[in-house]
This record gives sequence, structure tokens and C-alpha cells, in this order.
Amino acid sequence: MMQLIVVLFFAFLGCALAGGPNVGKRTYGGYQVFRLKPGNQKGLDLLVDWFKNERDGIDFWRPPKSLEDSVDIQVEPDFLDTVKKELASANIKVKLLFGDLGKTIEKERQENSKQWKSGLSTFKYQAYHRLTEIQTWLDDIAATCPSNLNCDVTSIGKTYEQREMKMIRIGEVGLSNKPAIWIDCGIHAREWISPATCVYTIYRFITDFTRGYSRVTSLLRKFDFYIMPNANPDGYEYSWNMNRMWRKTVTPQYDLGSPCIGVDPNRNWDYQWMAAGASSNPCSDGYGGRSAFSEVETQAMSNFVYANRATIKAFISLHSYGQMFLTPWGVGSALPADYTELYRVASAAATELKAMYGTTYRIGSITTLLYDAAGGSIDWTKAVAGIKYSMAYELRDTGTYGFMLPASQILSTAKETYASLQRLAEEIQV
Ligand SMILES: [Zn+2]
Repeated sequence: MMQLIVVLFFAFLGCALAGGPNVGKRTYGGYQVFRLKPGNQKGLDLLVDWFKNERDGIDFWRPPKSLEDSVDIQVEPDFLDTVKKELASANIKVKLLFGDLGKTIEKERQENSKQWKSGLSTFKYQAYHRLTEIQTWLDDIAATCPSNLNCDVTSIGKTYEQREMKMIRIGEVGLSNKPAIWIDCGIHAREWISPATCVYTIYRFITDFTRGYSRVTSLLRKFDFYIMPNANPDGYEYSWNMNRMWRKTVTPQYDLGSPCIGVDPNRNWDYQWMAAGASSNPCSDGYGGRSAFSEVETQAMSNFVYANRATIKAFISLHSYGQMFLTPWGVGSALPADYTELYRVASAAATELKAMYGTTYRIGSITTLLYDAAGGSIDWTKAVAGIKYSMAYELRDTGTYGFMLPASQILSTAKETYASLQRLAEEIQV
């Protein structure tokens, strides 16, 4: 009851607070999304100022980086007029990506609801799926594995809302203490292409092994793959039920006097936590949490990875969007001492990825290609767990659809990514 009163109190106060409370259903009716080209330093400075100060009415899908890089923003209806005027007076080039984000979200919802989703034989890899569908499918497909392939589905813990954090280990039966490769998807809830790509990767590893496809049998003989299709299950469900643009976990922050919920699980890892590029405002999408590893989800993942750090040779986290291979670090301008080696492996993976449909990726560190982002998983796995090949993908696209990547692009994205993951595994030195 107390919580309800607190929620209502803040819901009432909401509009007076920076950013407003982020709890509850959002339909995004009348919201618009723009692609911006700063054009000149004044324009870039303005966008950086908006981003750093979390300007009301604007969500950055893609924050400002340089004069050359475009910026994607989502604008609330009430702020459209003033934002457009200010952009025009700063000579910033504006391209409309979504004239009504709510309509696009509703169209996606209707398409999703048409999908036939029960049963392994009718599971659609070209569709976005709910968490329970993915988790049921995971058990079902694991049960089809041949006797010489380990397909162990486990839960490494429970989320704040008591959902299982399921993971599958896939590898040929035989050797003990095999080197392993970790792949996680969906740590950011709204990046739906990421879980879809993990699902497809699991499917292909199992079916290609079963068919005796030699490239995959060799890989699964050499490595165990730990694949977690949903690293943020609560957030993922929230992005389906309440707010399609949800990014964070869903833990209430009311006891801190905030009307908001959720922590950015990729700003919550205990290395250089909050040093740069993370927010201390619980209403922010980049909120780092009240402490490092405040979230049970990041605790569960990091505990598992740390306990298995001797065997895990690569830690790969799949995000969207931007088409990039990212290496540590998320703080400062220094590159890892072995950056040349990480770059070599990423280049090979990028070449393999491009060969399929011509999709190009850029390669670089988080701060070089994106922005400061302290407390990210790959910084921690590299610096603390000592996992040399700690890297992240930013999957498709480069901003035409962004987080609203149509289901029609799932298969091509997943196929090119699956190919590149194989190449990455072949290239790493263990
Ligand atoms: Zn992300």
C-alpha cells in the first residue's frame, strides 16, 4: 500500500520533475524520431548539452559523437515545436525517421500477435517472441540434441521479478574443461534484434551439428558455448507490456525519493563504476544504480562468469543498433594493451559478416566509436575476470529503423551474425 501511495504521489508530481516518472504504460502516440547531422561545432555543442543535461522531452537513441556522426533523437509531442525551432536555428540538418512512433509500435504489435508461436516445429525464427516463448522453446530445442552433444539449459539465478535467467551450454560431449565462449543477448530490453539473434544462433549450432556440418562440429568439439538469450528478462517483458522503448531493469527506486524504476544493467558492473557516461538520476536511461552490482541480474551473470573465468576465453555481448564491433574500454581514451589482437579478430568477424549480405561494421573501442559508458559488462569481464576477448556487437541497423528493426530483417541479421560468430571463435587464440 505504501508503495502505491508513493507511486501515486510521484505520478502527480511527475511533470514537474526532470524527465518525469518512467513508470507505467507508454504508447508513444505522436512521438517523432529524427536523424540529425550537427553540421557545425555550434550544433554539436547544442546536442551534447542536451544529452549531458538530459533535456526534457528528448530521448537519445544515438547520442552525439562528432561532426561526422549522426544523432538520433525521439521527441515527445509537447516538445516538438520548440525542439524543431532550436534545431533549425543551430543549422542542424533534420531527417524524419518516424512521424508517429506510436503508430509504428502498434503496427509491430499487431504483426507480432499474428505469429503462431506454440510448439518447436512451428516456432518462427523470423518473428519477435515473448520471453516465455523463448524460454519454452529453449527447453524444447535442447531436448532435440543428439546424444553426443551437450545441450544443458540452466538458470543462473532469478530476476528482481523472479523470472529465471536461463542459459544454454552447447558443446560436443567428451573433453572436460573445454575452453568456452560466452554470448549474451538482450541486456538492454528494447534491443529486440539481439535476443532474436541469440535464439537463431542456438538453433543453428544445434541443427548444423546434428547435420554434421563440419565447420560447426569442429567448433563445438573445441568449445562450449554459453548462450543467454535474455540477460534482462524483466526489462524485456516490460518492453512488450508497458513501454516498447524500455532499456533498463525494473527495480523500484522509490526509497531513494525517486518516482522512477530501473537500472541500466550495462552501467552497473563493478569496474570504474560511475566514472563517466553513467547517470546518478534513477529516471535516466543510463542510471548506473545505487551501487555497483546493485542488480540481481548483473550479480548472477558476473558470478557465473567469474566462477568460470579460467575456461571462458571470449565474452561477447550482443546489442543494437549501429553495426559496430566494440572493444573495451568504456572510460578514457586509452585502448587495451592487446587492442591489436582484438582488432584482428573483430576484422575477421566483420569480413565474414559482410560476405553474406554486404552489411558493413565499424570496429573500435566503446569510447572511440560511441561515448563514455563506465560500468559496462565487457570492461568488467576484461579488467576483472581477465577474459581477453571481451567484445560487444551493435547489430543492425545504422538508424533507419533503430530499435524498431522490422521482423523482416531478423533472419538476415541473425544469419550474418551467426557466420561472424563462428569466424570469431575460429580466430581467437586459446
Ligand atoms: Zn545496448
